[in-house]
Amino acid sequence: MTTADPSGTFVQKPKTIAALKEGIASGSVKAADLTASYYERIAAVNPQLNVYLSLTKERAVEQAARIDALAAKGDPLPALAGIPVGIKDVLVVKGAPATAGSKILKGYEPPYDATSVTKLEAAGAVLLGKINCDEFAMGSSNENSAYGPVRNPVDPERVPGGSSGGSAAAVAADMAVATLGTDTGGSIRQPASFCGVVGVLPTYGRVSRYGLIAFASSLDRVGPFAANVRDAATLLGVLAGHDTKDATSSPAPVEDYAAESDKGAEGLRIGVPAEYFSDGLDPEVRAAIEKGIEDLKAAGCTVKSISLPHTKYAIPTYYLVATAEASANLARFDGVRYGYRSAASENLAAMYKHSRDEGFGPEVKRRILLGTYALSAGYYDAYYLKAQQVRRLLAEEFLRAFTEVDAIVTPTSPVPPFKLGEKTGDPLAMYLADIYTVTASLAGICGVTVPCGSTSSGLPVGMQVLASHLRESTAFRVARAVEAAQK
Ligand code: GLN
Repeated sequence: MTTADPSGTFVQKPKTIAALKEGIASGSVKAADLTASYYERIAAVNPQLNVYLSLTKERAVEQAARIDALAAKGDPLPALAGIPVGIKDVLVVKGAPATAGSKILKGYEPPYDATSVTKLEAAGAVLLGKINCDEFAMGSSNENSAYGPVRNPVDPERVPGGSSGGSAAAVAADMAVATLGTDTGGSIRQPASFCGVVGVLPTYGRVSRYGLIAFASSLDRVGPFAANVRDAATLLGVLAGHDTKDATSSPAPVEDYAAESDKGAEGLRIGVPAEYFSDGLDPEVRAAIEKGIEDLKAAGCTVKSISLPHTKYAIPTYYLVATAEASANLARFDGVRYGYRSAASENLAAMYKHSRDEGFGPEVKRRILLGTYALSAGYYDAYYLKAQQVRRLLAEEFLRAFTEVDAIVTPTSPVPPFKLGEKTGDPLAMYLADIYTVTASLAGICGVTVPCGSTSSGLPVGMQVLASHLRESTAFRVARAVEAAQK
């Protein structure tokens, strides 16, 4: 597990959670050795891929020792005993630097753990470190990180997607067995699809946002990445559940997603929305998804075409709601409370101004400007309010569709992973590529992206499987069937 593949790709599939856990329980794998081998792998490939921003070695070594002691006693092991995981750097880990990919948070060390981090550790996971992402999770390529872009392990000349590009790349390159990411408009699903791994968008409120550095609070979700669907389901089972520290957290009971995912997809009704297969869809992506749909039929699903006509309004709606909320959330970074403070501070107002000017990158500034404009007096009704109304229509349209079908399948991204630098000069082109993911974000529903074939040059294609609120189990069942048909 120490060097890159001689073929030039960094792809290396991790062992499954179940296999590793069995090894740890039987004593054939020591959590301490496993942890050490992951740090070796990180040391070997991080210089090329730029995935980890900081490591939490001390904490990892302590946790691994605790797990090995439990195993030696023959005690029952928790769900993720000894499993090495990485955390997107927008989630806080006590005492570890939290940058959110931004210079403005340089030097900030949060005094507490995010709930999702607490839950992973309580389930026995070993935290390896904090993972690179687009600044404040704004982006689709990881090129907006103040700490340099992450490279796609499948082809290092290409982007891993964003904003959780590092979390997807880590799993693809076996620099962690699983990772946490966040998804506001596609930031788990699109990078998972670009790197050939599984990513989960839990229903809004299913996983606590406590300890997440907020981008757009009504859209932000925390979710897992894994190398296979069953592992992803196991992880969601650990992460999901009510949290009194997040007022939007759902009190609904948590299902045994992994066991549910074993039930197969036979008899499930699948909807294929025409709007997700129109102009702008790469022909090779289309072909791969169409093949995936045939595989679902072979697995016993019934497939029908449906229509989601409000899809065409999703991009402007998302980019109004997300930027408006971001402009409010990012007001707290003023040079006083967290991280970076400009040295050019002749008075208080200048200190705020210079700290924000020097601390934020261009994309974040663009969004603060857009959002502030959309919320300003005289424009609120025309932009923000209107966007909220369209958001409602989009959500209703999905709910109507889910009275006829159990799941909806689409491509996750209209294009395969693109080259570094290819879209950086054209922010609008970058936004438009989020077309298939922002809809579910606005509607609050859940989904899974699962590898579904590849292009002729070997670039991964992901299928997005969407299901209604709190129907994660259904999405997992469909995704398992797609996965089972892959060679
Ligand atoms: N690409 C989208 C954006 O830039 C989504 C980001 C996200 O989900 N965090 O806003």
